[in-house]
Amino acid sequence: MQTEGLSKAKDSAGRIAIESAPALRKLLAEYYLDLHEAQKDPKRKIAWVSSVGPVELLRAYGFEVYFPENHGALLGATRNSARYIPKAVAQGYSPDICSYLTADIGAHLSGKSPLQDAYGIEGVPRPDVLVYSTNQCRDVGDWWAYYAREYKVPLLGIHPPHLLDEIEDRHLQMVHGEHERVSQELKKISGRSLDQGHLKEIVELSRQASILWREILNLASNRPSPHTFFDAVIHMAPIVVLRGKQETIDYYNLLKAEMTARVEKKVGAVPKERLRIYWEGMPIWGALRELSTLFFDLNTAVVASTYCNTWAFDKLDPANIDESMARVYTELFINRTDSIKMDILRKLVDDFSIDGVVFHDCKTCPNNSNCRYGMPDRLLDEYGIANVTIGADVSDLRLYSPDQVRTTLEGFIEQLSES
Ligand code: SF4
Repeated sequence: MQTEGLSKAKDSAGRIAIESAPALRKLLAEYYLDLHEAQKDPKRKIAWVSSVGPVELLRAYGFEVYFPENHGALLGATRNSARYIPKAVAQGYSPDICSYLTADIGAHLSGKSPLQDAYGIEGVPRPDVLVYSTNQCRDVGDWWAYYAREYKVPLLGIHPPHLLDEIEDRHLQMVHGEHERVSQELKKISGRSLDQGHLKEIVELSRQASILWREILNLASNRPSPHTFFDAVIHMAPIVVLRGKQETIDYYNLLKAEMTARVEKKVGAVPKERLRIYWEGMPIWGALRELSTLFFDLNTAVVASTYCNTWAFDKLDPANIDESMARVYTELFINRTDSIKMDILRKLVDDFSIDGVVFHDCKTCPNNSNCRYGMPDRLLDEYGIANVTIGADVSDLRLYSPDQVRTTLEGFIEQLSES
């Protein structure tokens, strides 16, 4: 990577290309191709897991790990969800529930996957076990249950306490108990005992990758910011699907070096950065490019988000695996009270010198739409934090009106410019 002069390559909208991106594409291709190989090898077993499930435990038992939510995001990003969702609706799944779920099940019923075109493989790997945690929502449980019936494989659920204010020891003990119970089942399915030394190594790899990911995100506190939310949602893929692997650490070292060089040379992702925005809620996967271009043209950088921060599990501790794993997989933003969420938001608004917050009211994900119980008004009234709410969806583009969202965002940026 040329950190001396940094990349001068720009896309059609004028954004400077991230040089590390080909390494990311290679890493993800290797991940999916390896999963494809694993399903052909009777000695290798595959676990499906929800994106904030205790993946370290699964890796320690020797499972290869696949993440259906990443597939849901791919269906959204490739703008295919609306084609598949009706198939799931026809099976009795409401169009109002998680559109990752309905798009993914619909794609399965259609025998389609974006992995086919991207990597020339048959599709998603067949599971040997399905593991979910309701630390984020109930939808993952119902989603996985569909595939448990479909593939006739074991379904293991972790059910942490919900919507917590302060995290107390009793919460952690309960979650640890859930992890223990699942661990005993994984032992039977894998035919292996848990190697504590191996688990310790994996937890340490997750911890290191999380620290790097957090450092990369925090570089956006610089002005101009070296990257935006629209870059981060792409480059977060390894911390989601490959945490616990050395390759993720290697990739984030590369990306951090590039972003650090940008900061040192004052190369901004939005060169004429004037305003700085916080994105609250889910991405709109099928509209990333147009929203990125819209903010770029408005000389506005979206520099921080709830979503990308979620996967920085830097409190994992190989010297205290049980408690730290229970903690990081319980204290997620999505699983906290509004009062805790507001404290977290206020701090991020300060740390990243935010001018305004965009709330995404995601039609099919009430779990990660934090604008529905008065928080935007309280943020403005109590702390003077300007904000706006847009209605759209994480994956179903039929619920996204480009003109309406553009008008709302342009009006908001104009209002911020005048204040
Ligand atoms: S958190 Fe929202 S988007 Fe994610 S799986 Fe649950 S309902 Fe779907």
